[in-house]
Amino acid sequence: MSVATKPASVPPAQLPDSSGHFGPYGGVFVPETLMTALAELTAAYEQARQDPEYLRELRHHLKEFAGRPTELYFAGRLTQHCGGAKIYFKREDLLHTGAHKINNAIGQALLARRMGKQRIIAETGAGQHGVATAAVCAKFGLECVVYMGAVDMERQALNVFRMRLMGAKVVGVEAGQKTLKDAVNEAMRDWVTNVRGTHYILGSALGAHPYPMMVRDFHRVIGQELRGQILEREGRLPDEIVACVGGGSNAIGCFFEFLSDPGVRLIGVEAGGHGIRRGEHAARFEGGKLGVLQGCKTYILQNPDGQIELTHSVSAGLDYAAIGPEHAYYRDQGRIAYAYATDDEVLEAFQLCSRLEGIIPALESTHALVEGLKRAKQLGRDQVLVINLSGRGDKDVNQVAKLLGVRL
Ligand SMILES: *Cc1c(COP(=O)(O)O)cnc(C)c1O
Repeated sequence: MSVATKPASVPPAQLPDSSGHFGPYGGVFVPETLMTALAELTAAYEQARQDPEYLRELRHHLKEFAGRPTELYFAGRLTQHCGGAKIYFKREDLLHTGAHKINNAIGQALLARRMGKQRIIAETGAGQHGVATAAVCAKFGLECVVYMGAVDMERQALNVFRMRLMGAKVVGVEAGQKTLKDAVNEAMRDWVTNVRGTHYILGSALGAHPYPMMVRDFHRVIGQELRGQILEREGRLPDEIVACVGGGSNAIGCFFEFLSDPGVRLIGVEAGGHGIRRGEHAARFEGGKLGVLQGCKTYILQNPDGQIELTHSVSAGLDYAAIGPEHAYYRDQGRIAYAYATDDEVLEAFQLCSRLEGIIPALESTHALVEGLKRAKQLGRDQVLVINLSGRGDKDVNQVAKLLGVRL
């Protein structure tokens, strides 16, 4: 198995450049009315990230509210099952509200408060980012409006109720496919109208600068903790780290601290859906093309006319036509390799992990698990592989039961 392991040519800490570019990717592609707001946000974030008081507050809430640090867990029975590398899980699934998303939601809510913005808006697909945002808004006493496609609201009724319990207003979006992309459009429209008192908490390492950088930074804590934990357990860095890639926030957060360690192979896993056929998957690096969507330039699944292609994945959190710009850059550089897992593989690994480890993983995270298990089998017993378990599967059990033909 050959995966490029050369270090990045530009030191990761210097990216993006001042205009928000990761090489040819990223940038700021928004209506004129948002340019000022984004510039303000960039300035406020640059200030906050150097302010010891802000960083102290962030650390405090990550610990007390979110539950950091998360454990590094040795998956002993899966290791035995595969018969190769030692498999570890980074347990982001143990965080409050069930996934890594709370890291970013806390960071941005604190930033909004610093900027004097009392009203928060967010988009959500499956509802995980909406739930994390609703939770931090409740905690910090901020008004919260979450845009969600009408189809998603029906599919994820439980998360809609969770958000409402925590005081959020959930607005159904009836435009387009009535899913995530349409919810993002609606959130951007709201922001254009109400920009003065409103902050938009974007949920992944996507969109216009500074979001891809800022969201990445809020998740870097994953890789920072992992580095210390694996050094303590194994006395060395891992051979491979595998993470699933929707927009790309949990993956880049987990990978970032290792980009300059050529001995650590980094692998992102996209959603292969029913297989790589047009409209049947969400693997942007399998047939996607350079384009602009919702604020940034990156790889996008589109038809020859540039219309956004329909996407499909068993996991709503990976079901999006664009990938974060930083991933496109490191793929070009050969620093991060990308694979995909299909729905069928995911369903099987979901059950295997539940049965052998007593851990029910999120369907999104299970994509990383599929690739991680394949790789562990190819590696020697003296090697070490880490899978970022980005979230827990409680939210997915109804859907899995249905897919397995089990009536609850
Ligand atoms: C939202 C979500 C993802 C996908 O988002 P990224 O920005 O790519 O991390 C992955 N895993 C879980 C559990 C999620 O909720």
